[in-house]
Amino acid sequence: MTDGEVLLALTEQDLAIARAEKALDELPEKLAVLQLRKRLREIEVVRERAAAYCRKTEALIARANDEATTLQNKIDVEQAKVLSGDISNPKELQNLTREMDALKRRKDAVEFEELGLMEKSESGSAQLAKVDAALAEGVAKEQALIAEFKSKGGELQTEIGHMREARERLAAQLAPALGSQYEALRGSKHGIAAGELKGGLCSACRTQIPSHEVQAIMAGPEIAECPNCKRLLIVRVEA
Ligand SMILES: [Zn+2]
Repeated sequence: MTDGEVLLALTEQDLAIARAEKALDELPEKLAVLQLRKRLREIEVVRERAAAYCRKTEALIARANDEATTLQNKIDVEQAKVLSGDISNPKELQNLTREMDALKRRKDAVEFEELGLMEKSESGSAQLAKVDAALAEGVAKEQALIAEFKSKGGELQTEIGHMREARERLAAQLAPALGSQYEALRGSKHGIAAGELKGGLCSACRTQIPSHEVQAIMAGPEIAECPNCKRLLIVRVEA
């Protein structure tokens, strides 16, 4: 291979590597994982809200339960007083009975409230279970997508590795000065360092070169410089 042919092959190879790297970066599985993670974070917020609701309802139930127990104890104490027979004053007895009735009504109200809270707690737990199921499903899907991404990405990475090896073999064929020039131009010219002169056009910048300049270039060495984009211009390639 002539230097010009090596330069053109190297240009092709570098473009192919850049395309493969872009494909790796844009694998649909990667995007899907990112989107799913966003969704999972949203579900986690909903889950935290549902869990807080359950905790609050449970605390209210416990409080109502305690209050009902306290009221029952008071009722028991009053009841014992009534049954003891120690109180003979009818007025005092009547007051005690009235107090007991009030305590019983209060206890009924607390127990009614507790039942309502228990219904809320049940629906809250059901909601939480639903959110947990959605979360578990999402996490399983995320893992499957990551596995798929690793598999596809791994294949692409292996392929890119082979492409790089091939590229290094090509680059090693160039004289060090020409190799350095190629690399410098690749860095400053959007990844493309060389073009081919074809029908008076530079294949890199696709600019028509005036015919008198083409003639001068054709009369010169195999590797020239594009008068427009200043890239290496391969004047002729052996057919
Ligand atoms: Zn050019």
